[in-house]
Order: sequence, then C-alpha cells, then structure tokens
Amino acid sequence: MENLLDSGLVWLRRDLRTTDHAALSNALQLCKKVFVAFVFDTEILKELDRHDQRVEFIWESLVQVNTNLVQLSQNNGCSLIVRHGVASEVITSLAQQLEVNAVFCSHDDEPQSLHRDSLVEQILAQFKIRFFHYKDHVLLERSEVLTQSQKPYSVFTPYKNAWLKVIQETDLQEFPIKQLAHRLAATPLSVHSPLPSLAQLGFEKTALSELKIPLGENGAQHLLQDFESRINDYSATRNFPSIKGPSYLGVHLRFGTISIRQLARLAWPHYLQNKEGATVWLSELIWRDFYAQILHHHPHIVGRSFKLAYDKIEWEQGPKAQELFQAWCQAKTGYPLVDAAMEQLNQTGYMHNRLRMVVASFLVKHLGLDWRLGEAYFAKKLNDFDLASNNGGWQWASSSGCDAQPYFRIFNPVTQSEKFDKDGKFIKRYLPQLAKLDHKNIHAPWLMPKMLLDHAGVVLGQNYPHPIVDHAQARAKTLLRYAVVSTKNQLEQQKQFDLTQK
Ligand SMILES: Cc1cc2nc3c(=O)[nH]c(=O)nc-3n(C[C@H](O)[C@H](O)[C@H](O)COP(=O)(O)OP(=O)(O)OC[C@H]3O[C@@H](n4cnc5c(N)ncnc54)[C@H](O)[C@@H]3O)c2cc1C
Repeated sequence: MENLLDSGLVWLRRDLRTTDHAALSNALQLCKKVFVAFVFDTEILKELDRHDQRVEFIWESLVQVNTNLVQLSQNNGCSLIVRHGVASEVITSLAQQLEVNAVFCSHDDEPQSLHRDSLVEQILAQFKIRFFHYKDHVLLERSEVLTQSQKPYSVFTPYKNAWLKVIQETDLQEFPIKQLAHRLAATPLSVHSPLPSLAQLGFEKTALSELKIPLGENGAQHLLQDFESRINDYSATRNFPSIKGPSYLGVHLRFGTISIRQLARLAWPHYLQNKEGATVWLSELIWRDFYAQILHHHPHIVGRSFKLAYDKIEWEQGPKAQELFQAWCQAKTGYPLVDAAMEQLNQTGYMHNRLRMVVASFLVKHLGLDWRLGEAYFAKKLNDFDLASNNGGWQWASSSGCDAQPYFRIFNPVTQSEKFDKDGKFIKRYLPQLAKLDHKNIHAPWLMPKMLLDHAGVVLGQNYPHPIVDHAQARAKTLLRYAVVSTKNQLEQQKQFDLTQK
C-alpha cells in the first residue's frame, strides 16, 4: 500500500465505459483514491450542428457511466464529474482542485488530440502532477507492428499477417475494474455538479431514441450478444444491405462504450478454428488498427492524399460541381442504390459498408468531385465517424490511399445494385416512391419504357430524378482525370486488371 499514489483522476474521452478499461484499471491499481471525469470539450462542440446525434449518444453513455460508478463504488458518494469547457484547461484545473497525484487516460492519436494531450501533460508537469496514458482504443497501435526493416506497413495483407504474428493473448485480456472498485472515491461537494442537460450544452434532442439505436455500455453489450449468434454468417451476409449481417457496433467502438478487446475475445476462438465468418470479421477489426497506425505514422493524410502525386488531380469546380455535390448529399443522383444509401445516412447516421464504398466511388469517379468533400460530409453525418477509418475509406475509394483500389477500377452503381440489392429491398425501404418497380428495373429506372414507369407511379424528373451523370461518359472522363498520376507501374496494373476482366 505504501507504494501507491494518494489519488488519481481518470479522464474519459473516447472510452465511455466502466468495464475492461485500461486507464481506469491502471488508476485503481496505482492509487488509493480514484476520481473519474468527462469534459464536454467546447473546442470540439463548437464545430458541430445543434442537432448532432453524437452529442446525445455521448450524453446517454455518460448517464450509464455514472450509474455504473455509483454501483461499483457501492454508493459511497462516487459519481462521474462532468464539466463543459476547453478540455485542456478544465482537466488541468480539476486535477489541481482535487489535489491528485496523476491524471490517467487512453491514447487518442488524432493530431488535434495529440496536441491537446501534450499541452495537458506540460501544464500538469508544472504542478508536479503525472500524466499516464494507455493503449485502449485499438488492439495493436502505433509502432507495435512494423516491417523487418522497422518501417510502418502501408499495404494491408502483409500488415495483417504480421499483426497476427505479433498479437498475444495478453493483448486481448480484460482490464479488471470490479476487484478494486472500492478505491473509487466520493466526489467532494465542492467539485460535484449534475450532468448538464443537452440544452445547457447548446444542443437539442435528436431522433436518436426514435431510431432505437441501443445506447451506452448496455446497448453495446446487447448488440454484441445479438451479433454472437450471427458471427459465423458474417462473410456470407455482410455485403447485402437489406440483411442484418454486420454487428452495428461502429458507434460503440468510436465512443468506447465497448472494449475492442472484448470483440477480439469473441472472434479469436472461432478464428483459431478457421471459421470463415469470424475470421473475416476479425480482419475488419484489423483494418481498423491498420488505418489507426497509418494516421499515426502519416498525419499528412488529414487534408492530403496518402500518395502525394494524387494531389495533382484536378477535380470538378464551380457552380455545376456544387450542384452535383448537393444532389449527392440530398440523395438525388437518379441512381437508386446511391440515393437509398444517402437516405440511410441522412435519416439514421449509419451507412452499410458496401454502400459507403459505392457512394464514395460515385462521388469521386462519377461526379469527378474531390474525395475530401465526401470525407467531410461523412464526418458530419456518421454516428461512427472516426478520422482514421473515414479517411482510409475515402482514400481507398479515390485510389489516393495507402492500399487503395486501382484508379481504373470504377464501380458501376447499377451492377453493384443488381448484385448486392438484387430484389431492390433496401432501395424500396429508403425510396418508397420506387416501391412498385420490379426487381429487374429498379436498379436503373431511366432505362424502363415510360408506360411501365407510369404504371408504377414513377415520373422521372418529378418524384424521382433523372440520372445526373452517364456511367460510360463518367468512366472515360475519370480515366483521363487520373492520367496525371498514371505511371508505367499503374498501366501495368491496368493491363493485369483488364486481363482478369476478360
Ligand atoms: C468511405 C468510407 C468511410 C468510412 N468511414 C468510417 C468511419 O468514419 N468510421 C468507421 O468506424 N468506419 C468507417 N468505415 C468502415 C466501415 O464502413 C464501418 O466501420 C462499418 O460499416 C461499421 O459498421 P459495423 O459496425 O456494423 O461494422 P462490422 O462490419 O460489424 O465491423 C466491425 C467493426 O470493424 C471495423 N471495421 C469494419 N470495416 C472496416 C473498414 N473497412 N475500415 C476500418 N474499420 C472497419 C469497425 O470498427 C466496425 O465497427 C468507412 C468505410 C468507407 C468505405
């Protein structure tokens, strides 16, 4: 006991839970008394819309964190301390007010967060308060997986193979909380304040509860249980947006209402038994680690192409380009699968992974618009928005990324629709005006005889748009646009690709 610090403050950020929590577990092991706090950071909130669902998601998660802390501490007066202000200022003054010896938190490798954390560390050091930070958000981070020449990987498959060699059972182990929960300290009255309401934070209640998204730590556990029975169907179902195939845990991983280790512990035994579904799902979790380490090693990807030569590409500009972008955002492209996907995003804050690839490719390679526009729109709308994975996904689609699809691979939105929404079930859910179209014609209504369209109550240009772009023309234009980055090597790739298409 004599080696223990007197007290510590756990600063929650994107780890809004009280189980399997690296920083909280370490604080409880190292300190006699532990306080837990969250700051609604005005530096982040000021950029958001008043109706941002994610603020409400965080708010609901904090309610659960507080309830769990009360229970874990057996009602000894411990509660979650919540503040609203500039996080670096608030957390450092709270640490002084509580007279703690150390502040504990999880790594957050986004450039702005790293900047904030280094500021916090400097301020705390002036007051002789230590700053401990831990890996928690990913399974393997930063430089834990390197090539033989100690360089970061930039291609996924060799990264994954190396990842599978590096990972140890200990990396998946749960960080214990309950056993040491008696060290959770009563919140001093001078510090205690109730959770501010959404209105006090400057936000409004959103459609989150109507959408029935399971919230907080309880919601995440519920989703995981539901997915457990489907995990081995994942590879067969994950590409079809009308089927309940994926886990829908993205938003929970984003805000840390579930531990990534718990997910990996679920997949691991199935992976060891070579079960395909869980193995593919584990691979997706590894993609998440992959993109996080790409951001860590290549912070220039925020705003610039991973492959810098791709910044030479000239994107469409001016009023016509603006119009095309608005049509894409507002689900009015005239391509049913693209529009249904954008409706899903606009109405729910979620979009199926297959559709993220389709709409991203459409924006860049059909409309000729800068991938950064789409990236920013997703950042605003996605509940599970994560800088590293979102940037990775967009740069993959625009071919400018580390392990991206070749620039001449251009998804055909009609073929994608026929393949992945064969019966048009997903399209009909989000575009009810097309509900009477048959499964053959729903993918490209402009090709239908007018009589059949009339019969189905679809009037192009009135209740559903004409296509805003022609696939074949767009394809030809994109190949020209990308010629600026076309190297001998890429032409070689294209030859091979064309051969495989024959
Ligand atoms: C253009 C584009 C943008 C994207 N933006 C984001 C984003 O902002 N945030 C985000 O978490 N994912 C993003 N993805 C990846 C992926 O689409 C989502 O993670 C997934 O659809 C979330 O749904 P789920 O939780 O049901 O996933 P599941 O299929 O159940 O997968 C489980 C988890 O694995 C991770 N994962 C799955 N696929 C990927 C992937 N391709 N890259 C990285 N991680 C992955 C996610 O954390 C996901 O929650 C993007 C993909 C594209 C093509």
